[in-house]
Amino acid sequence: MTRVLDDVPGQEPAMAFLRQAASRPHHAYLLAGPEGCGKSLAGRAFAAALLCPQGGCGECRSCRLALGERHPNLFLVEPEGRDIHVDTVRDEVWHPAHRTAPEPGRKVFVIREADRLNPAAADVLLKVLEEPPADAVLLLLSARPHELPETVLSRCHVVTFTPLAEGFVVDTLVGEGVPEPRARLAARLAGGNLGRARRLAVAADGLAFRDVAERALELAAAGPAGALAAAEEVVAAAERYRKGLKDELAAELEPFLDERGRPDEASRGTIKRLEARHHRRLRRAERDQVDQILLAASAALRDRVLAAAGGRPDWRVSLDREADPAPGAVPSARGWGAIERARAALADETNLNLRLVLEEAFLELAGEGAAAR
Ligand SMILES: [Zn+2]
Repeated sequence: MTRVLDDVPGQEPAMAFLRQAASRPHHAYLLAGPEGCGKSLAGRAFAAALLCPQGGCGECRSCRLALGERHPNLFLVEPEGRDIHVDTVRDEVWHPAHRTAPEPGRKVFVIREADRLNPAAADVLLKVLEEPPADAVLLLLSARPHELPETVLSRCHVVTFTPLAEGFVVDTLVGEGVPEPRARLAARLAGGNLGRARRLAVAADGLAFRDVAERALELAAAGPAGALAAAEEVVAAAERYRKGLKDELAAELEPFLDERGRPDEASRGTIKRLEARHHRRLRRAERDQVDQILLAASAALRDRVLAAAGGRPDWRVSLDREADPAPGAVPSARGWGAIERARAALADETNLNLRLVLEEAFLELAGEGAAAR
């Protein structure tokens, strides 16, 4: 029985392969495909199938914990900052791989964004792949598999995931009860990334970042002082987002605390790992939110450029809004480029000062406005 594996839509060939693999798994798989196409979902479902005594019923404690990424035998590795560091691989893969599993059964290791392993980290992982413990299964996930060392790649069975079509993302969200216009809007804003589209569509304030983006563009259109205020607006919104996420993560720990809010003894290891993972997520939270806001700003500018060029209205990203530039706002392909460059810079280099990058981008945008007036 592999019911959890039936719940991953839009990737039938890959899931058929994993259903087959679940009964007699190899030691290592690489799930390869673009961002947001379902690799994480598939990885969680496959982990549940491997950890569930019934092969992935989708309902038992093992399945629930695995799908929630809280199973004690499920070890999760993801980048901290730009890279996956060697210490993370030692703590989360090497040591647990050679120790008895916290609970009877297999150990499953999920390595997200595996192409970000730095060379030392890849070496340690390679040692585990060369002599994998009998009870361990490693799942590497990557949108850039060609950037993985050949030595690592050659020891994994590659499972290929394909990009999701906009229509599929819309239909999926509609099937989950999201009204069609909101589903289409979320799909466009998320660029076909289902996970991101779902977060945008479902959360009550899921689309609030667009208002921050619009407000920032409006401010920047007023000149250099406005540009600095725009950067401030975005930084403040990202900080608010981080605070909200912190509360959300605290709630995730609750099931492992006793009635007085203290960690219960048996769950100590699990709690420690969850806390480490929360710490990594929080470190990325502000940056992720800034990217989201810049993406919305970029989409708004793109729509204005499209409108100014007489493009068809249904090609807009923001189907629910007028694309006519607000008074003083300038449809500018170069301003749009400034925002996209800021996004690329922040994605590429984690040590950059957020505020400075934003100020630079909005100042360029403001300069454009002045030049056009
Ligand atoms: Zn189960």
